[in-house]
Amino acid sequence: MASVNEDFLRLQSGYLFPEVARRIRAWQEKNPGEAVMKLSIGNTTEALTKHITEAMHAKINLLSDRKTYSGYGDEQGDTPLREALCNHYKKEYGVSLPVSAFFVSDGAKSDAGNIQSIFSRSSVPAIQDPAYPVYTDSSVAGGHTGDYDEAAGGYSGIVYMKATRENGFVAEVPKAHADLIYLCFPNNPTGAVATKEQLKAFIDYAHRERAIIIFDSAYSDYIETEGIPHSIYEIEGAEDCAIEIGSFSKNAGFTGVRLGWTIVPEALKSDNADTGTIHRLWNRRQCTFFNGASNIAQAGGLAALSEEGRRECLGLVSYYKENARIILNGMKEIGFECYGGTDSPYIWMRCPDGLSSWDFFDFLLEKAHVAVTPGSGFGNAGEGFVRISAYGHREDTEKAVAAIRENAG
Ligand code: PLP
Repeated sequence: MASVNEDFLRLQSGYLFPEVARRIRAWQEKNPGEAVMKLSIGNTTEALTKHITEAMHAKINLLSDRKTYSGYGDEQGDTPLREALCNHYKKEYGVSLPVSAFFVSDGAKSDAGNIQSIFSRSSVPAIQDPAYPVYTDSSVAGGHTGDYDEAAGGYSGIVYMKATRENGFVAEVPKAHADLIYLCFPNNPTGAVATKEQLKAFIDYAHRERAIIIFDSAYSDYIETEGIPHSIYEIEGAEDCAIEIGSFSKNAGFTGVRLGWTIVPEALKSDNADTGTIHRLWNRRQCTFFNGASNIAQAGGLAALSEEGRRECLGLVSYYKENARIILNGMKEIGFECYGGTDSPYIWMRCPDGLSSWDFFDFLLEKAHVAVTPGSGFGNAGEGFVRISAYGHREDTEKAVAAIRENAG
């Protein structure tokens, strides 16, 4: 008889966004005809840029003709795109890695989860609290943790790294041993960024503990503060202990197009893996379970990395960053305590008067008709905060900020 994977049964229900949607629905039923303004969504809203869409149209034209049609490509990604990624790292971050280290994928989310499969079940994950939920859920589903402990508000077997006001939402390196350390900067949900010194401390920890860092850089283009690293490889010593996961989603508007990459250097090593083994296993994993990213998406990605594409995409990022500035300034003027929003599309706002995340969510929905995301949904340490997102049309963002100012300030 078939039996299901019990590691999956340990997953807590994906409660956050369904519950946000349920409360919005319930409110709308009580208030027919009233619109809810959503500052809750981490999804892009502005059109793809011209240079990118032209490149994708051109690719479709090639696919429409049997003389120029192409089917499956390399599982690792098209060589010109891998070369363009390699050059992008060199030119913009001063990072020199071989083309072979770059694996093109259908997005950062799947890679962030799948990367676990090449590490042993006994590998202990260390995850920031609060965090993008995929790191925790894929650790649970991958059998790297114990059960959920209701009283502790977390899974046994995970080393939780608290990101709090006290540490500026950049967790300190854990005191306990861990093997797979998930880091994400600029951070979702807190909007925090890490300095070179802070990342160096994690690299030193990884060397000491013979651990591997999985660095999620999905929001790298939102960084504007001088000296903040965009890639973990900008810090010395990262190449033999860090994997980096990147995405075209938030930097180029590819949330629906689907394209990302993962950097797995040959130099990586672990307890039972010499130099080259981790790289080889990821290649093996991708060739076995993945048939390459869409060739149309890859044509768009290549255009996004060209000079013109970069100019256009940074313009797109500026649009969302201006939304973030409007939200951040608006909330600060009202008197709310806010973090993030400068090097990130997310503003992490403290709930006033000791309200819980959900109570403040209900308050903003009721009074201002604005939906935000309760911070507690990202982990225990997110309690008492809400995440406000800059993804949205300018006019909607301005309207939502005005509504909070007038009715909930
Ligand atoms: N990493 C982080 C931190 C995210 O917030 C998101 C999406 O919201 C992703 C990865 C997903 O990226 P992708 O669309 O490339 O799968």
